[in-house]
Amino acid sequence: MHLSGYWYSPKNSKRHTASIDKLQDALYLSVDGQEARAINIQNLSLTDRVGSANRRIIFSDGAFFETRDNDTVDALFNKKDHIHNLESRWQWVVSAVVLFFVIAFATVRVGLPWASKEVAYALPIYVNEKVSSGTLEFLDEYIFDESELSQAQQKQTHTQFNVLIEALGDNEFNYRLYIRKMEGQSNAFSLPFGEIILTDKLLQIAENTEQIDSILLHEIGHIKHRHSLQQVVYSSLISTAISVMTSDLTVLEDLLVVMPVFLVESSYSRAHEYEADVFLFDKMIKLNKDPIHFANILSKITQGDEINDDLEKTIGYFSSHPETSQRIENAARKSQEFLRGADY
Ligand SMILES: [Zn+2]
Repeated sequence: MHLSGYWYSPKNSKRHTASIDKLQDALYLSVDGQEARAINIQNLSLTDRVGSANRRIIFSDGAFFETRDNDTVDALFNKKDHIHNLESRWQWVVSAVVLFFVIAFATVRVGLPWASKEVAYALPIYVNEKVSSGTLEFLDEYIFDESELSQAQQKQTHTQFNVLIEALGDNEFNYRLYIRKMEGQSNAFSLPFGEIILTDKLLQIAENTEQIDSILLHEIGHIKHRHSLQQVVYSSLISTAISVMTSDLTVLEDLLVVMPVFLVESSYSRAHEYEADVFLFDKMIKLNKDPIHFANILSKITQGDEINDDLEKTIGYFSSHPETSQRIENAARKSQEFLRGADY
């Protein structure tokens, strides 16, 4: 097979008449009619075929061979190269897909939660207020009803709440309590600006004020650690990523309802629940309250879930709060530490 064209020196780009011949699977280059020398195909690269434009065969030293004879170039190089390219291309595709999933997984599981936390802590407090006020309005309109507890009981709970907040001595947030009815559910919520919502049912099943305090402290733990805000930022980042990838900007509109949906689904991560629990145990011990009260109210609410099938359909506080039995155990262990400490 014979290919004629021009060879250009790497030094001065001077053009020389040249030819490449293929003899028994080896390639030979002859320049200016001189004796042919063997060339190593591994050291060559080819420019792509673009219409009838000249093709270049580029040598590793920067010299190149230029020709118009595209067909012969393809015949000389491409067939073998094509298979080679295809194989390496497949390897690339597989590697790229694997890499994509590894990066995507790491991003979603590690990167985004980390970023969400950073953003949640960096946001000025008035953003918390904005998110909170819209959310409470939304929940009041669609999810909550007015409390049916007696004025006296509500007043007493508010007084108890104020005593607890006073004892905490925490000025970072302006904690406020709201009591609402929510279709027979014993539940508690917190909003990023410091609002805590307790449902009628939760207050009804609580056996003493310490049990209510433990739930309040758990919710305060969520607020202090900006868990709901982190979740909202996280959802926003995911939605934004999806909308950017799919160019579907309607996803962004859904962000406006992310917060209420998140709260109603109570989809705190297990890590966030444990973090809020650690906060509550710590504060209970500091305030000289036995953490066993948290274990007790947790068990009570969980039992309620099992007895009442309706709750399954809705959102029991502790179906949303995972690993309940583990958390009850943690509370019991903390209680023992507390009691031992009380001996001193
Ligand atoms: Zn929680």
